[in-house]
Amino acid sequence: MGFFDWIKNSGEKLRRVEDKIYQQRTDFVEIYQRNLDLEREISQRTEELHNANQTLLTLEHVWDMMNSSRPLSSVLETIVSSLHGEFRYLYSCIIQKQLDSKGEFFAFKTYLQNDFSMKLDGCLKTPLFETRLNIKKDSSLYETVENKKFRYYTINEDIFSLLFPENYFPEKITELKNTTTVKTLMVLPIVSKEFTGFLAVFSPREEPKDSEINFLNLFARQIELAITIANLFETVKKQAVTDPLTELFNRRFYEDALAREAKRALRLNQPFTLISLDLDKLKHINDMYGHSAGDAAIKAVARVINKNSRSVDVPSRIGGEEFAIILPGVDSQGGLVAAERIRASLEAEPVEIVGKITASIGVATFIEQTSNPDELVEIADKAMYFAKQNGRNQVKLAEAADEISWQEVAVDAFVQILDNHKIPFSESMANDLYKKLQTNQEKTSGSSTKDLLYNVVDTISKSYAPQHQEGITKAKVQLASAIAKRFDLSKGDVDKLKIAMLLYDIGNIMLPNDLLKKTSPLTDDEKATITKHPIYAAQEILKPISHVSNIIPIIEHHHESWDGTGYPSRKKGDDIPLISQIILIVDSYYAMTSDRPYRKAYSEAEAVNEIKKSRGKKYSEELTDEFVHAIEDLKRM
Ligand code: GH3
Ligand code: MG
Repeated sequence: MGFFDWIKNSGEKLRRVEDKIYQQRTDFVEIYQRNLDLEREISQRTEELHNANQTLLTLEHVWDMMNSSRPLSSVLETIVSSLHGEFRYLYSCIIQKQLDSKGEFFAFKTYLQNDFSMKLDGCLKTPLFETRLNIKKDSSLYETVENKKFRYYTINEDIFSLLFPENYFPEKITELKNTTTVKTLMVLPIVSKEFTGFLAVFSPREEPKDSEINFLNLFARQIELAITIANLFETVKKQAVTDPLTELFNRRFYEDALAREAKRALRLNQPFTLISLDLDKLKHINDMYGHSAGDAAIKAVARVINKNSRSVDVPSRIGGEEFAIILPGVDSQGGLVAAERIRASLEAEPVEIVGKITASIGVATFIEQTSNPDELVEIADKAMYFAKQNGRNQVKLAEAADEISWQEVAVDAFVQILDNHKIPFSESMANDLYKKLQTNQEKTSGSSTKDLLYNVVDTISKSYAPQHQEGITKAKVQLASAIAKRFDLSKGDVDKLKIAMLLYDIGNIMLPNDLLKKTSPLTDDEKATITKHPIYAAQEILKPISHVSNIIPIIEHHHESWDGTGYPSRKKGDDIPLISQIILIVDSYYAMTSDRPYRKAYSEAEAVNEIKKSRGKKYSEELTDEFVHAIEDLKRM
């Protein structure tokens, strides 16, 4: 082989090697390319898997939410926020078709805020969430909802004019597109028996993929389901609180509402009024025209009540022919007006077959007349019965519980004292008092209960102290109340004071008669008996009596001195209950201004002077001064 042959041969070999290398390179590139594709596919699949997982988790979460008893608004907010939270959409919201006096419109059903919504807000003339979306009936958007079809819109002026006709700034749309990644708006109709609207999703992608559309549709169906479940729940809830005959609230709801309203009224120091209404002569209607006519009359009452109620009121049927209405924020004057409106309107609307029906109505106002919900019901009912007794077909305002309650406690206490027979009353006196107290308890009005109580105490006092003057008890209670007012005592304390003023001396009745009437100076032993014994006796008498246990310690200490020299416990200064101090000063004053077996009465001025001498000793300085002021005030009256 010559040199040239060798060259040629080598060149041939080289080319072959080169070809081989080239071939291998191509193979390699191919493999490389294939690997890349594979990697891409793996990552894509991973992402899909991740998304599917995410969807599953979210749907599971949504499902849990829907099965919780959380309110619909909160369920919807969670569903919607997961779209921009976990799925990277810019913003999503639920829009509902609504109807009001101005006609049909669309409005936001979910109210969530984020960066995007704030920027969107900037494009509008009215705040986003308050915006009425006047989507035109002939628009593609309206049609999309009607036909329950998915649709997406590229973000531009067209979609703004569809959603917010005449309510956007065109120049701001470019700004929105420049400052956010928004590209499209996807519209997913939500239509069920009780809801028409759509889920709106703002997306950063140009065109939705099929899988995405499927996924979003799934979401929209979940929302539909959530709304249906919530409505079912509402219906069941409503049935549980509604009276089936009248569709007013039932007793259970009324009682809850009353407790709730009372709490709120106390917290805000705002009144509310309770109207208690009873249909007149229903038995007669039933007997005359049959039970169904009676039912018709009850329904007519409900209609009138409903017509005259505000949305915040709680009109309820709480018994066969008994109704109650709670009027939040309404005082007694407003309550009377509302009640009268109901009464007049009932009278003016005859019921078929039955004719004219009427009702008797009681009105009571919380805080104004009592701060106890049970008592409110009681006084409203009392007023209603009073209206019945007074001829029916009328409205009566309740008497303030203030005025009745302490008197009722006192009347009740005296009845129980008489029942307990431990007390040496004469038979005839006991019977006489008993009768008086009993007839008072049956009365509905509390107007002269006070006078009765003063009379009872005067009678008892006279039985052991013949010099006791008629009218002193009333004067004592008035003076004590006047002092209490100067000290700004709470109503509860004033009530305690009034009851204690009637009862603090009751123990005297247990003292030996001859000791009480003795005119010669008393021995030390006798003095001790006459001072301390009544306190223990009062305790013994009052112990078994209900509702006055809080009075006993007050009575126990009504002979303690400010300087600690009193009895029985030598209590001092502020350790002595203020109510006891007031009783002491009032008692001392009236003891001085009345005759005693062993001395003549002081004049009023002398007695006041005597009291002033004990300023800072027997009585605190403040009490002495307020006492003097109170005496002056009463004289001026
Ligand atoms: P008054 O004016 O004193 O209230 O007389 P009244 O007949 O309405 O009152 P009373 O309490 O004596 O009788 C109430 C009657 O109401 C007796 C009861 O049979 C009847 N009633 C209670 N619930 C219903 C009901 O749901 N439908 C009908 N038709 N009658 C009822
Ligand atoms: Mg009735």
